[in-house]
Amino acid sequence: MSDEEDRLLHSVAMQNAQSILLARQRAEQALLSAHSGLEDKTRELDFSLSMMRATLEASRDGILVTDDNARVTGFNQQYMRMWGIPEELMAPHDHERLLSFVGPQVEGMQSFLDRVHEIYRTSPAESFDLVKLRDGRIYERSSKMQFVEGRHVGRVWVFRDITEQRRAEDALQKKARVLELLNKTGTILTAKLDVRMLAQAVIDAATEISGAKVGAFFYSTAAHRDKGFSLQAVAGMAMEDFDTCGLPRSGALFDLTLSGAPLIHLDDMQKDPRHEALTPTETGARKPAVIRSYLAVPVASGSAEVIGGLFFGHPDTGVFDERAERLVTGIAAQAGVSIDNARLYEVARQAAEEREKLLDSERAARSEAEHMSRMKDEFLAMLAHELRNPLAPLRNSVEILRRGSAGSLELEETRAIMDRQIAHMTRLVDDLLDVNRISRGKLDLRLEKISLADALRSAVETSRPLIAGRHHSFEAVLPDDSVLVDADLVRLSQAFTNLLNNAAKYTPDGGSVALRAVADAQGVTVSVEDTGIGIPEHLGNRIFDMFVQGEAGHPSMPQPQGGLGIGLTLVRKIVEMHGGRIRAESRGDCPGSRFVVWLPVSQAAQVSPAADTDRSPAPALATGTSFESRRILVTDDNKDAAFTLASLLGMMGHEVRTAHDGAEAIAMVASFSPEIIFLDIGMPHMDGYEACRRIRRLAQAPAPVIVALTGWGQADDKRKAREAGFDHHVTKPVDAAQLEELVGSNF
Ligand code: ADP
Repeated sequence: MSDEEDRLLHSVAMQNAQSILLARQRAEQALLSAHSGLEDKTRELDFSLSMMRATLEASRDGILVTDDNARVTGFNQQYMRMWGIPEELMAPHDHERLLSFVGPQVEGMQSFLDRVHEIYRTSPAESFDLVKLRDGRIYERSSKMQFVEGRHVGRVWVFRDITEQRRAEDALQKKARVLELLNKTGTILTAKLDVRMLAQAVIDAATEISGAKVGAFFYSTAAHRDKGFSLQAVAGMAMEDFDTCGLPRSGALFDLTLSGAPLIHLDDMQKDPRHEALTPTETGARKPAVIRSYLAVPVASGSAEVIGGLFFGHPDTGVFDERAERLVTGIAAQAGVSIDNARLYEVARQAAEEREKLLDSERAARSEAEHMSRMKDEFLAMLAHELRNPLAPLRNSVEILRRGSAGSLELEETRAIMDRQIAHMTRLVDDLLDVNRISRGKLDLRLEKISLADALRSAVETSRPLIAGRHHSFEAVLPDDSVLVDADLVRLSQAFTNLLNNAAKYTPDGGSVALRAVADAQGVTVSVEDTGIGIPEHLGNRIFDMFVQGEAGHPSMPQPQGGLGIGLTLVRKIVEMHGGRIRAESRGDCPGSRFVVWLPVSQAAQVSPAADTDRSPAPALATGTSFESRRILVTDDNKDAAFTLASLLGMMGHEVRTAHDGAEAIAMVASFSPEIIFLDIGMPHMDGYEACRRIRRLAQAPAPVIVALTGWGQADDKRKAREAGFDHHVTKPVDAAQLEELVGSNF
């Protein structure tokens, strides 16, 4: 190598060495400054790590950090304290192990665990739950996903104990509720004026305010105090279950409150010697619940009289505090005053109601009395008119007879007129008497098993003259004789006679009247139809009421028909007394009326002959016996009646004397020895009964047949007549046929 080369090499080497040195110096410099940067950074990092740890530890929340695989990457001591986790459990950094430790502390463990797993599975950005621990604490649990430089690194779980906060909130809420309830109760107590509603409102509010499980309001008014206090309202259960709730309803403890003792508060009623446990029989064999906490306070009226008590119970001991005592006492005091008011109000309301009712009924009675008085006046006017009507033809007939110049045809017609008019008057008077009996409830029936056809035939016989007199065509469809009814033959035929007579009366001459009967298994329906003026629509079924009549003067029947407005009343009564019913309708097919009677048929099939000779429409004449003249005494204070009856009997060929009072009759019995004596019942000085008794005492031999004559045909009159010694009892007027029957059949 040349020197040149050597020098060159040396200089290059020097240069290299220098630049290496420089580079090295630079590198050393850079390393130095990098080192010091790193140290700074490390210090910084340490600082922020310890800041973070300090922050974590300073937090009052429990914090747990996990990664996606449920590995614990961080936590604070508060977390461990909140769940009571021992140090060694944290070491494996396994969230699942932590969960199996904390799970049993939670109420509803399964749903708690499920929720954690769900959060792992669905990875929500945030979550929020409330966790209730078995010991009563409440934790708020929130979680948040964590990102570092945009990368998801796990989840931070934060647990916050909100038990106190919750309690405070609850207490506040409760306070607000109590205030609200007190307010409401106050309003109810001043507004409600019904004792029962008040009692319910009071016990509902007081039970809730006091925190009781059951509450009961016992109450009694002074008027009912001897019957004790009764359960008025219950809260917390149904009234009918009260006996199983465990609160007493009798016994020393119960009585103490209702005798006015101040508030009784027991933390454990079961330990109080005054408490008597209910027996299962008292509770309907159901086991009563056990009440421990007990609170009872009397309810007193304004005048300090105990009118009831509030009773509260709870199955736990020591539930009621001083506040509950205060509130319940306050409510009881308010309730006492309010119930007083309600009672006063109730009394005043009842008094007002009663006064109103009295006024109403007085008004109704007055208007009814006025109505009745009007009806009576109208009725009397009509009665006078109706009774006077037959008098004119009778008076004329008498005059014809008096003149004695009438030919035999004329005489026969006059006799027929008198007969008809007397029959009409008799019918009016009979109806009147019957209606009188109805209104006194004294219409008697003599029920027998009769053939309905007999009753209808008898009615047709009686009505036939009127139907024929009006030139009506008449059709009768009678039931088979085997259709039997349990009935009074005379009354039933009287009912159908009235219907047929009305049909004839309210149908212009030349109309048609029909009687039809149809029987089935239960009953028989009888209809009476006519082609007359029909039933006035506005009357409807009222035409069956007493004294109700249609207006006189229908266009097709201008002249009044005569009547007292009682015929249909009688018909309905008779039908109903036979277990039947009646309705009236206008005919649909043509003008006219239809009366439909339904009667139950007799269930047995035996026909027994009706045997009411006394009231039969036409008793058969005594036939077949040869005539014998009798000595007969007729006694009647009405001389005309005595005279005409005596004349009639005389015309029949008997020897007759008359007497006009009881004493005269008795004297005649001795002097005349009558075989038959007719004695009027209603005579002055001595009535017929007394006269009869005295005649019987004369002990005539042979004993005379004594017949009572009376206007009253009641069962009672007949019994009295029998007891006085009469053989017979006949109702005036007696017709000739009946007389002949009587005189003839007795010998
Ligand atoms: P009276 O015939 O004496 O007036 P009722 O009690 O028998 O009394 O009848 C009451 C009223 O019913 C009669 O006034 C009449 O207006 C009406 N009435 C009764 N029967 C008939 C009938 N067949 N057709 C039309 N109206 C009748």
